[in-house]
Amino acid sequence: TKRDMALAQEAQRVAAEFEFGPDHVRKATKEFIREMDEGLQSEGTELSQIPTYVTAVPNGTEKGLYMAVDLGGTNFRVCSIQLHGNTTFSLTQSKVAIPRELMVAKTSKELFSFLAKQIEAFLKTHHEDHYFSHLERVNTGDTKGHEVFNLGFTFSFPVNQIGINKGLLMRWTKGFDIQDAVGKDVCALLQAEIDELGLPVKVAALVNDTVGTLMARSYTSPGKTGTLLGAIFGTGTNGAYVEKLDKVSKLTSKSDAGTYDKSTGEMIVNTEWGSFDNSLRTLPDTSYDKELDEKSVNPGIQMFEKRISGMFLGELLRLALVGLLKEPKIPLFKDEDSSKNDVHSTTQIHDNSPIHQQWGLDTSLLSICAGDHSPGHRVIRQTLDKDYGISAVSAEDAEAVKVIAAAIAQRAARLAAVAIAGIVINTGRLETSSGTATTEQKTGIEPSRGQVDSSGRGDVPEEDVIDIGVDGSLVEFYPGFEDEIRQALREIPEIGDAGEKRIRIGIAKDGSGVGAALIALVAGRVE
Ligand code: ADP
Repeated sequence: TKRDMALAQEAQRVAAEFEFGPDHVRKATKEFIREMDEGLQSEGTELSQIPTYVTAVPNGTEKGLYMAVDLGGTNFRVCSIQLHGNTTFSLTQSKVAIPRELMVAKTSKELFSFLAKQIEAFLKTHHEDHYFSHLERVNTGDTKGHEVFNLGFTFSFPVNQIGINKGLLMRWTKGFDIQDAVGKDVCALLQAEIDELGLPVKVAALVNDTVGTLMARSYTSPGKTGTLLGAIFGTGTNGAYVEKLDKVSKLTSKSDAGTYDKSTGEMIVNTEWGSFDNSLRTLPDTSYDKELDEKSVNPGIQMFEKRISGMFLGELLRLALVGLLKEPKIPLFKDEDSSKNDVHSTTQIHDNSPIHQQWGLDTSLLSICAGDHSPGHRVIRQTLDKDYGISAVSAEDAEAVKVIAAAIAQRAARLAAVAIAGIVINTGRLETSSGTATTEQKTGIEPSRGQVDSSGRGDVPEEDVIDIGVDGSLVEFYPGFEDEIRQALREIPEIGDAGEKRIRIGIAKDGSGVGAALIALVAGRVE
């Protein structure tokens, strides 16, 4: 009908606003490389490029028993990890909700002694022998040579890291507010409480979750070349990669930089790429992006993340749909002619539908749209009805939503490719090659647990593979996110078809568990 054609046209028009073509990808990649270099040289840049003091990635042969704790937001997780030395590991863990009153306690001691008590309880339950033999030794004053657990501490708040197990809390986020902790070394705060309980545990490393992802992937990845990049596409987006130490000049030129192992000639750098191009030199900026940013808690900040990650894509879709709803002439969710007794039931948007509330639309809807191949988009229509209070939606309406959702996700994936390309090109990994041609290629991350890899395996010699570990619901569950990334990578001349085939992307689970343990291991080697 005329209505359906008009709607389809409108959907195409909105989708076109999200286009980010090959030229844009190339230009943004150049800018990404420029900002990478700038961030390695000086402080206060758009890409923070934080040195992590981690100077090696694992190759899967590492062995030993380590501990890891993760203070993320709502929960505190304690685990022990046995690395088997053959790219596999076993993990034991416990999780406890952090009592609200401790998040806003008067003193940091209250929170950190609670954390230490959880570690004590974990040891008593899962490592009884070790715990009690340590106690005995403490009592007899004979702790020399007794093994302590090295522990990796994943702490997901902004810290100024000044050593592998040293970081000063810059500020609390996510509802935490304990004033006396600000400016203090969070590893020392935890260690003091661990020592008070006499536990055989040493806080060996302060861990950023992106670095953990890189380490976890490097340990479990099939090759022995070492992973180049760990990237997260979840609530937020960020990446950490292996950089040449002499390029990290803001660290190497500093006299009070703290101690680190210089022998590998490398250091993992946490890019904090969510803030890439905050000044919008090359990023797309639609009216929806502008509105989202203006109404966010941090306008003008994290502009890359606001176009890529799970926290924001649903909201972009919502704003685009609301824009169409507001126009009386555009027939989205409006019936053809309500004066006639229409054959199909009337579409209804419930008064309290989340479509009218900021953040009301979850990014999982984009995945549902992309995954619905049923006749008449039955799944999309059911979801709109059940989760969003929009009932009796027509197949054409659902198609319009699908078209716009796909455009938003495609742009996100192409922007993700900019970051990946920038790092692959700028680290010079493409220049080392054994020069073997490749043919067939396999793509597609399946939504499953564990290791799923895709790349030009088979014909690409292992030493030519550029390995990347990814984590986060968006990359794990959005159908075709990786395919879109790969398409954009091929459009960049420095990478092209040949370079794209060398890139292997695999899901890396559990950065804050096994990844943190591996950082504790690497940290232990330094001393
Ligand atoms: P986090 O990054 O907080 O560790 P996740 O990786 O699970 O956790 O990411 C959560 C984000 O992913 C949320 O913003 C959510 O909207 C989004 N998300 C959840 N499920 C899906 C899905 N199936 N497809 C796309 N995005 C999703």
